[in-house]
Amino acid sequence: MSNGMDLPAQVTVNTASHSSGSETLIVRVDQPVEGIDFNVHTLLRGTDGGLITPTSRKVECRWFRSKSRRGCSFENCPNSNRIATIQNLQNGLRYCSNQCFQSAFHNKNKKSSKSSSNSILVTIDEKDRKFISVEPFQEENGWEIISNEKTYVPSKEDVGYILRVECRAVTPDGRISAVANSKETPIVVGLPKPAPPRSLFTNPDSAKLRHQMGMKFDSSKVRILSYNVLADIYATKQLYPYCPMWALSWRVRRKILLREILAYDADIICLQEVQQDHYTEFFYKELEGLGYQGLYKAKTRVAGKIDGCYTLYKKERFRLVESNTIEFNSVARAIARTNAFEQRNDALRRLLKDNVAQIIVLERLDGDMSHTQGGNTLCLANTHIFWDPEYSDVKLWQTHLLLQELERVVRNRKNIPLIFCGDFNSMPSEAVVELLKSEKVSETTKPNDPCNILPPVQSITHSLGLISAYEHVTGNEPRFTNYTGHYVGTLDYIWVSRDSVLPVSTLLIPNEKTLRGTDDTPLPNTRFPSDHLALCVEVEISPTNAQAQTLSMNQYQMQ
Ligand SMILES: [Zn+2]
Repeated sequence: MSNGMDLPAQVTVNTASHSSGSETLIVRVDQPVEGIDFNVHTLLRGTDGGLITPTSRKVECRWFRSKSRRGCSFENCPNSNRIATIQNLQNGLRYCSNQCFQSAFHNKNKKSSKSSSNSILVTIDEKDRKFISVEPFQEENGWEIISNEKTYVPSKEDVGYILRVECRAVTPDGRISAVANSKETPIVVGLPKPAPPRSLFTNPDSAKLRHQMGMKFDSSKVRILSYNVLADIYATKQLYPYCPMWALSWRVRRKILLREILAYDADIICLQEVQQDHYTEFFYKELEGLGYQGLYKAKTRVAGKIDGCYTLYKKERFRLVESNTIEFNSVARAIARTNAFEQRNDALRRLLKDNVAQIIVLERLDGDMSHTQGGNTLCLANTHIFWDPEYSDVKLWQTHLLLQELERVVRNRKNIPLIFCGDFNSMPSEAVVELLKSEKVSETTKPNDPCNILPPVQSITHSLGLISAYEHVTGNEPRFTNYTGHYVGTLDYIWVSRDSVLPVSTLLIPNEKTLRGTDDTPLPNTRFPSDHLALCVEVEISPTNAQAQTLSMNQYQMQ
């Protein structure tokens, strides 16, 4: 940037009109966050008030940082971008609230075990603020120049300070056509620290079970992650008013999501609610550059932004053998064409919900089963079932259909092991989970079916022999996998073939106190970037063999 250096430090409106005639440059800034690209949003209007296309002008910026710290000095402050107005006159540190002041004070005393300043603590209450004061910030300290680039990435040193940006528009021949009023940002907030590590729970009976099942399991474990990452199109202020806007923004959430996903170091990743543009612009670049190979399938909605399922596997461990997708809309239309629905139009209206599923077959490259015929392949499925609680019939219809397709794929390949992940939008007590788990649906749990889309209850069955990995390892499904201000419940599951996949360990779901953190809010919040929690399990996979297929449910339950 050649002209950036000589921009005057104090820019006024006069300069703008002097240098240009009358183009107007309007600058808007977001919340700056440590480590996240911070772009200014600019709008340029010409002499006639019309918008000037950004390509015909180059916008140059210069960044400053305030010399005085503005944010709260308490390291666990829940209001990290609020101006600190309470000052400890003894050491000059400022806090955003009496609570932060006291917490910082307690922390300091704990660390240094100094009792000399106890006298301050006893004086702090709302009426008597002898040692604290409320003082406006003065500009006397001035500003320090920090960058001449258009995009600035705030550093750790910027946290707690505010930034100021000065921008100007330059024509292709180098003439300054407009200078914007300088703009101050909110206080730079630190990138939220990762949530505390989740503990890995290992089923103490898994070795015994392996022996009882009489099967040769492949001891090199496979780690599976299933995670609904909350698409940006659904991450609205209306749905999640308790989450600070900056933490809800995609530019911040994507960084925290990626950090979390990579930390699990899973061999197989099944993501749901991956927005299509974020797949191409972000996830694809980040994950497929790190040894993963992936397949993306968007929902079938035609208009507007859409999300979908994204299934990835580590290239060094697996090779893709076959891949299928299911578009539930297409299946519904195909069934309608055969006149199988009694109320054709009503049934279609009810069923066309755009949901999709992915079914792929992978060959293991590193297992010790490659000598066993068919023993080194497995089937992997990923889905996101329709969400609306008023549509339990549609959820069951989608799940039933998907299970039929999975049976076809698995049987065609001599009963290869199956791993089936997803957000099923169904609680453990609901028909969808009953079908997955017990291979049938009872009359009592069968949902209301206003458009007669479901077959007779005795035909809603399968024989895939599935168990839920979490329930198998811990004895129960998690208490919740979705934890928001308007809903708390278990909706996500990892299902595996009980005869050939042995779930060994799971990452436990954090407790409510950990989830809610110091800001005491449901999800998403500053440390948990989605409304769902990631499920992560380690399994051992056995080769397909005749013995495995003859194991009955009863034998299996004998522990
Ligand atoms: Zn504070």
